[in-house]
Amino acid sequence: MDFQLSDEQKRIVETVDEMGRKEFAAQASRWDENHEYPWENIELLREANILGMTIPTEYGGQGRPLIDAILAIETAAKYCGVTARIIVETNMGALGCVMAFGTDEQRKLVAHRILDQGDKPAIAMTEPEAGTALTDLQTRADKKGNTYVINGTKHWITGGGVSVTNLIFVRFFDDAKELGIGGILVDRGAPGFTFGRVEKALGLRGIPETELIFKDCEVPEENVVVPGDGSEGFKNLMYGYNGQRVGASAVALGIAQGAHNLAIDWMKKRKAFGRSISEFQGLQWMMAEAEMELNAARLLIYKAACNARDLPNNVKLPYMDESSMAKAYTGHASFKVVSDSLQMFGAYGYSQDMPLERMLRDVRMFQIGGGTTQAQLNMIARSVFRRKFDLRK
Ligand SMILES: Cc1cc2nc3c(=O)[nH]c(=O)nc-3n(C[C@H](O)[C@H](O)[C@H](O)COP(=O)(O)OP(=O)(O)OC[C@H]3O[C@@H](n4cnc5c(N)ncnc54)[C@H](O)[C@@H]3O)c2cc1C
Repeated sequence: MDFQLSDEQKRIVETVDEMGRKEFAAQASRWDENHEYPWENIELLREANILGMTIPTEYGGQGRPLIDAILAIETAAKYCGVTARIIVETNMGALGCVMAFGTDEQRKLVAHRILDQGDKPAIAMTEPEAGTALTDLQTRADKKGNTYVINGTKHWITGGGVSVTNLIFVRFFDDAKELGIGGILVDRGAPGFTFGRVEKALGLRGIPETELIFKDCEVPEENVVVPGDGSEGFKNLMYGYNGQRVGASAVALGIAQGAHNLAIDWMKKRKAFGRSISEFQGLQWMMAEAEMELNAARLLIYKAACNARDLPNNVKLPYMDESSMAKAYTGHASFKVVSDSLQMFGAYGYSQDMPLERMLRDVRMFQIGGGTTQAQLNMIARSVFRRKFDLRK
């Protein structure tokens, strides 16, 4: 077991860290306050070959292992959580599903859009009546000749309206016969595909969370990524999604590490009772706890990323239990670390003049989006007891 980064991994971290310090940190409040998508950062990341770095070389990428992308995500998130999320979605998420289960044409198209156009594919599972209970989803795709006709509504979809590529979880039907849950690609601009409500979210406001509305939206059958293949289709989609969970955990970790670093610097300078506040043991212990929690989260995330197992087409994505452990632990620990970091600043930390309050709002998301902490604990319990519990009983 070797915990050292390779020279190449060090280079990736240094490159993103420099961009973070020089570009991302200064603009992070702009995306938040204006609800503005960080196109400028995306272009910087694209030029630096950070977007889509896991895409295989045969599709124009670098074929880097998941852990390299995780290092980039964690580093960017210290400065801007929104920008880090875009690195996640251009290396995992819908991309993972397409690379593992899609056709050669789909892989080429999605890779080209990410690498050459900076597209951030969206993955649309959640519906107003189907969140944690995802298999309740009602959006359907009915076969009509060589096409599928999609009807239904998704909500809270990250990048809705911005993303060109959208992987939609649907229930497939052939005549009246249901084939099961699968995934199909729908491009922005497809007739019958519109965007509804934009959520007024607590944090991570630089990426829109929107409704996707499908009304008789007809797409060619070549757009099917994962067919409605009984329970297999849903299982495959969720395998593809494990990478996204580990990536999301790395964003939370990076935000927390960034807040922790700010607190350390501040504590050395801030004085109370004629002493630096870093000399108070109560505060030292809070920071020591945070240091342990950050390192524990990092180990879970790195292990899940490095243990990635083979899916079809040589795609390597994490195991479900390891990605759930990384996400459940990091979601909780990161929120605590950011909150404790803010505490070190007193009232200054509570002000919008400092980035701490934004970081706290941003990091709260990771206990909900991508599957709640409770949903992750259910999956871990499944692995502990080696059985699937029927939650509907
Ligand atoms: C910022 C943000 C971005 C998002 N981006 C996307 C996206 O890009 N694509 C997408 O498809 N979705 C996205 N989501 C949606 C997200 O995945 C869902 O919100 C999440 O899965 C929870 O579903 P829900 O909100 O319907 O909550 P519910 O499922 O209604 O859960 C409500 C509460 O009950 C708990 N609960 C439910 N079932 C159980 C159980 N069996 N055991 C114990 N507790 C349970 C939950 O943990 C939660 O605390 C995003 C959400 C947010 C906040």
